Amino acid sequence: MTVLSSEFSFINSLLQKNKCDQPLLIRGIGDDCAIFKGPGNDDYVISADALIEHVHFKLDFMSEYQLGYKSLAVNISDIAAMGGMPLFYLVSIAIPSHVTLDQAKLMMNGMAAIASQHNMILIGGDTVKSGAELMMSITVIGRCISGNAWQRSHAHAGDGIYVTGPLGWSALGLHCLMHDHDPHIFSNYINAHISPQPRCDVVSAFAKDACIHAAIDSSDGLISDLNHIADQSQLGYAIDIASLMQDSDMLCHMQQLNCDSHAMIASGGEDYELILTIASDKCAHFEQVCNEHGMATYYLGHMHSTCSHRNVVCNGKAISLLHTGHDHFES
Ligand code: ADP
Ligand code: MG
Repeated sequence: MTVLSSEFSFINSLLQKNKCDQPLLIRGIGDDCAIFKGPGNDDYVISADALIEHVHFKLDFMSEYQLGYKSLAVNISDIAAMGGMPLFYLVSIAIPSHVTLDQAKLMMNGMAAIASQHNMILIGGDTVKSGAELMMSITVIGRCISGNAWQRSHAHAGDGIYVTGPLGWSALGLHCLMHDHDPHIFSNYINAHISPQPRCDVVSAFAKDACIHAAIDSSDGLISDLNHIADQSQLGYAIDIASLMQDSDMLCHMQQLNCDSHAMIASGGEDYELILTIASDKCAHFEQVCNEHGMATYYLGHMHSTCSHRNVVCNGKAISLLHTGHDHFES
């Protein structure tokens, strides 16, 4: 028997066996969403995610409503990571005996709340009984302009690497929840963990703009997620995380709680910001458009032509990280 040691090597094995040789399919396994051709001038993006109690969430940390809200938010984030706008969602839910139907309804209300913010419609799903844990599988469908989806494999050497918001807040929020720290003092971080906002505003601002080459949402951690872009584009990178270390309040709180700030920022995960690679001659334009839309940007560095060149520093100095990000089957 082979023990599953890495989520990503498992996914890679599926990728090898399922080639994209169907004319309607533009991208199959391996990106935040699959992409297929629609009629007219649209492509469609689709993604599914499973959420299991005690693995992805605990009901002690958030209400049923908040759980529903976050579950759909992180799926919408996968659509945003492709440069798509969300349209529809389907929800399959397995309800164990310790969860009542009223609690399940509250969860669906949380999903409906974020769905209405993004004009999304629930179009199907399944409801079954679970023997042990509460489980959900959410499928989301979105649309983007034909040929314009942002793919992990489309980065070019020399592209600027940017993040659309601060990283580390969600990891710090989870730490505060797990260690019962004052929810008022640390509310910003706890909110970032419980109610992430998918960056559809970035998609709206750049949907018709070719300056973005590759994108991924920061779900597993900056380094792990950037590695997906680098691996699939067969490139390396050189980044300096100093621009993400300017928030003195956050650094102070991390220090106060004995948290490793480099680790939380570079491999914390679940911030659901977008990590983008921008054509080298369009970086000033990208920054200007973000500025005009009141959107923050953090410049990190550039993609490198040598695949093995993966350099992460802070203020020019090497940093040591035990983990690069989240992997479900890492020991
Ligand atoms: P994300 O973190 O953006 O949700 P994942 O890391 O879960 O993405 O998945 C990476 C890619 O692998 C996606 O394209 C996803 O559809 C695909 N994938 C993951 N598990 C499976 C599976 N069991 N069967 C087919 N494709 C899978
Ligand atoms: Mg993703």
